[in-house]
Amino acid sequence: MTALAPGATIGILGGGQLGRMLAMAAARLGFDVHIYTDETDSPAARVAARATIAAYNDAAALCAFARAVSVVTAEFENVPAATAAALAEAGVDVRPDARALAIAQDRFEEKTFLNALGIASPPFAAIDSEADLAAAITRIGAPAILKTRRLGYDGRGQVRIAAAADAPGAYTRIGAPAILEGFCAFEREISIIAARGGDGAIAYFEVCENEHSGGILTRTRIPARVAPSVEAQARGAAQAVLEHFDYVGVLTIEFFLMPDGALLANEMAPRVHNSGHWTIEAALTSQFEQHIRAIVGWPLGPTEHVCDAEMINLIGEEAGDWARLAADPSARLHLYGKRDARTGRKMGHVTRLRLGDRDA
Ligand code: AMP
Repeated sequence: MTALAPGATIGILGGGQLGRMLAMAAARLGFDVHIYTDETDSPAARVAARATIAAYNDAAALCAFARAVSVVTAEFENVPAATAAALAEAGVDVRPDARALAIAQDRFEEKTFLNALGIASPPFAAIDSEADLAAAITRIGAPAILKTRRLGYDGRGQVRIAAAADAPGAYTRIGAPAILEGFCAFEREISIIAARGGDGAIAYFEVCENEHSGGILTRTRIPARVAPSVEAQARGAAQAVLEHFDYVGVLTIEFFLMPDGALLANEMAPRVHNSGHWTIEAALTSQFEQHIRAIVGWPLGPTEHVCDAEMINLIGEEAGDWARLAADPSARLHLYGKRDARTGRKMGHVTRLRLGDRDA
C-alpha cells in the first residue's frame, strides 16, 4: 500500500463526533477531510475542509465524493453495504474492508463470525418468530435479552426478559429479525482497541474498563482491573479479527469479563470507539490518529498509555455543566458542538488524568 502524502484528502462516511475527532486528528497530520453525511450541520462537517450532504444511496453524490478523495473510511458501522460497494466501484479504497462493516451491522452475523474464529460470546439464537423465541428461552434460559439484529445502539432496540412469561411482550416490542442473548452477570465490561496498518503491523491499546447505564457508556477507566491473561486473550481476539479481514484501521471489541475469568465478546466495532477517547490525552498516539495513520498507509504510532485516566461521557443535559468543567484543571473537556441536548445523546466527554499515579 503506497503511503498518502500530507495534503491528500480523506473521505469519512458519517458526520458524528467520531468523524469530528478523526477529522481533527487528520488535520494535525496535514490531511484534509471530506465528510459525507445525510445530516445538515453535523459535528464532523463543521471541522472538516469539505462536506457533502446527501443520502447514502445518492449514486451521483457518491461518485463525485469518490473522485474528490484518496481513501474512504467510516465513522459509524451502519453505512449501507451498497454505499461502500458504490464507492469501491467508483475506484476508491474503502478502509477497513466493507466486509467488516457488513458483519458488524448484524448482531447475529457478528456473533456467529466471532464464534467461528474461536472467540466466545454469550449464548445466542436468531429469532424470526414468537415460536423461535419460546424455543430459544427454553435452550438459553432466563434472564435473557432480546435485541434487534440491526441498527441498535446505545442500548436502543433491546429488552430484558426476566422470565419466560415476559417473552410475548418483548417480542411485540422488538419484532423480527431479532437475536436472543443469554444475560451475562459479568464482573466487569472491558474493551480492546487495536489497529492494523497497511503493512500488516498490529498495535494494541491497553484494555480499558467500561461502565454502562441504560445501555449507554458512561465511564471508561484505564488501566482495566484485569489479569495479564485476560489482556492477552483480548489481544488474541482482536488479532484474529484483524488478520481475517486483512483489516486496515482501528477495530474495537467489547467484552464481558465473567466471574470465572471467561471473556465473552459482546460486540465488535470496525472503527474508533467511545471507550477509546481516553487515548487522546493518555496514550502516546490517540485512537483517531492511529486510524488515520493506518488508512493513509503510514506506520502505526506507539500505543503506550502515559498515565492512568478516566473518561466520563457528557450525556444530554450534562454538557450544560461546561463552565464548571472548563474551570476544573483536572478535567480535559471535549464538546461535540451538537445543537440539541436530547436525552441520551452524547454531547461531549471529559477525561481526567491521574498524573503521578504511575510512580506512586
Ligand atoms: P449493546 O448495545 O449490545 O452493546 O448493549 C449495551 C450494554 O447493555 C452492554 O454494554 C451491557 O452493559 C448491556 N448488555 C448487553 N447485552 C448483554 C448481555 N447479553 N448480558 C448482560 N448485559 C448486556
